[in-house]
Amino acid sequence: MSDFEILTGGCQCGTVRFEVRAPATDLYHCHCSMCRKVHGVAYATYAVAPKPAVVITQGEANLSRFDSSQEVHRYFCRTCGCQITIEVDSAPESRWFMPGTLDGGRHPGAAARERHIYVGSKLPWLHLDETLPREDVV
Ligand SMILES: [Zn+2]
Ligand SMILES: [Zn+2]
Repeated sequence: MSDFEILTGGCQCGTVRFEVRAPATDLYHCHCSMCRKVHGVAYATYAVAPKPAVVITQGEANLSRFDSSQEVHRYFCRTCGCQITIEVDSAPESRWFMPGTLDGGRHPGAAARERHIYVGSKLPWLHLDETLPREDVV
């Protein structure tokens, strides 16, 4: 923890910038159809950090909110559509962020349990060649 350097990141158009001031506590790749749709990707990669550690440092007024379910609130740049952070009602102490938006390809921190989830919904043509654990549920 002492050697952790603050992570910085932002959206594709540069309007929204954020910092993550503590290492991620969780890291996973989700293959569910909801995550594929909201990002427009084959699967979505998420990191979770303590809520106070994920700070919007620029462009907060340009964030729009989409509730992908009753308790999942996704905040994205309304200019370029990039998802920046997610809040989940059942985990109010945490905030999700997208490692793909971090500057310099940084790793989101010492998350204990990187894995693939909802692999039962994985696109049939997508090959997962690395050796992370694979679960059909969270
Ligand atoms: Zn943007
Ligand atoms: Zn998902």
